[in-house]
Formats: sequence, structure tokens, C-alpha cells
Amino acid sequence: MYHYVRDTAATAFPAIRALPPDMFAHQLDWLQREYELIGLDALEAALEGGRPLPPNAALLTFDDGFVDHYEVVLPVLATRGLGGVFFLAHDASGDTPRVLGVHKTHFLLAALGSDAFGDAVLGECRAAARAARSSDATVFGLDRWEHADERAIKDLLNYELPIDEAEQVLDVLFERHLGSQDEFARGLYLRAPMIAEMRRAGMVFGYHTRSHKMLSRLSPADQAAELRDGVAWVRALTGQARVSFCYPWGGPGTYTSASLDILASAGYSVAFNTVRRRIAVGADHRYELPRVDTRDLPPYTAGEPAAPAMASDEA
Ligand SMILES: [Zn+2]
Repeated sequence: MYHYVRDTAATAFPAIRALPPDMFAHQLDWLQREYELIGLDALEAALEGGRPLPPNAALLTFDDGFVDHYEVVLPVLATRGLGGVFFLAHDASGDTPRVLGVHKTHFLLAALGSDAFGDAVLGECRAAARAARSSDATVFGLDRWEHADERAIKDLLNYELPIDEAEQVLDVLFERHLGSQDEFARGLYLRAPMIAEMRRAGMVFGYHTRSHKMLSRLSPADQAAELRDGVAWVRALTGQARVSFCYPWGGPGTYTSASLDILASAGYSVAFNTVRRRIAVGADHRYELPRVDTRDLPPYTAGEPAAPAMASDEA
């Protein structure tokens, strides 16, 4: 599982946590030596009881539809004759692209640093609460986030604040510190012509929700709104018959049993979470396929983790 793959030092946001291109190349060297890199169709067939996978099969997946995947990943994979699966969010790569909340957080953190970002989030929450209640009353619960670290501020935004409120706070801060999100989004995410070129080079696309909300925080009806149009949208963009899915954040608490039902009725082929271990074909649910993160493998580590790694959400 890959997210950002870029030389951050060459960008306006050197603090973004990305996989550098040279590390990506080293990791592919290792993967090609130790594993047999397969396509998603081979995994889907094996999960459906067809031809079994080779013993050391590996599949490359890339989340969030970053332009990195066109600029950095595509040429490397094409040169090596490899393929990958790329997961797109409609709001990021659609006709009127928006910066997804998770990435607003990343870029604000990179621009401001964690202390200033935390202060800015709390300041905006207090201002919003005061405006809503038209009084200067204490905003209950926010004091405990004072001087919170980066992880805690992310938890406040992702889990504690009402979803609409968190979005509004991030919109205001993004506009204030980073400017127009339309233009930013056009530079951050894959666009239709890039997707078409990647398809011609053999890449496969899946869906990653409409707006990258945490599904477990939504009602089943709102989850359906995030999921139901993805198959048709990806088909129209790519001409693919099958469309796979991966969950935003992706830890076990970030989706529900209703999510699995909706994926089934919407016609997705398979779905990946971010539980960090190998897939057990025949045991794992086709809508709960785990993945190993790039950070779990060389050159970051000595080898594939022997024991199941902890589930960890997309940060
Ligand atoms: Zn994501």
C-alpha cells in the first residue's frame, strides 16, 4: 500500500511524509527479487475459487489518486513492465476537484507545523461554537485539546468533531493559509487524461469513496451516498468492467457491516482495508482484504513482518 510517492524536497511542502522515488525503486527491486508481482485480476480470480496464486504473490496498490502516481509511479512501473491498482475519490479526481479533508490536514500540518496547526484548529472551533451560540460561553470539551500533539489534533478532526464542523474548520484554515482549493486540487490529484494514459499503460483503477469520509461515522444512507456511484464513475473513466474499492483510513473501526452490504449491492469486486498483514485467500472476506504498508518492507525494515502488524489507519 502506497500513498504519496514524491521527492518532497523538490516541492513547496518538504514536510509532507512521502515515499521518496529512490526508496520506491529500491523497494521494487526487493519486491521483484522476493515476490511474484501479480495483477488484481489474478487476486480476484483466486478469491473466487479460480486459479490459485503463486506462493509469493504481491500486488501493488496506491491510494488517493495523487498526481504522484502519474508523474513518479507510472514511468517506473511502465519501465519495469509492472502494473498497479490506483484508488480514486470522486471529489478529488472528478470534474470539479476539491482537496480531501485528510489532505487539507496533511498540507496545513506541513505548512504550519503541528503546534500552530493545533492552535489554529482550536481557535476555529471556538469561533464556530461562539457564533453558533451567539454568546462567549465556555466551549465545553475543547480545553482538553489545548497543547495536544499532532496525533491528538488529527483525532479531534477525524473522530471527535461532527463531520460537517471538521470540514468547515479545515475549509477556513486551508483558504486562509494555502489559498484556493480548486487550483490546489488540480495540482494534487489525477485528472481524466492522466487516468486514460495510465489505463493505456495497463494500470487498474478502483474507488475510494466520493469525499473520503470515515464510513463508520455515517448512517447507512450516507454511506450509500459515498459508495453507490463509484462503480459507474470508474467504469466510465476507464472502460474497466470490474471496480474494486479501498476504505478511507481503513482501520477496522473505520467501516461497518453496513459498508460491506452496500459494497456488495453496488457491485464492487473486492475491497481493501489497512490492516497490515498478508491476505489469507479463503479466510479473508472479499471486502476486508488486508495490506502491508510500504513502511513495513525493505529498505525501511529487514523483511516482510512475520507477525501480523497492528492495524493502523491512513494517517
Ligand atoms: Zn485515502
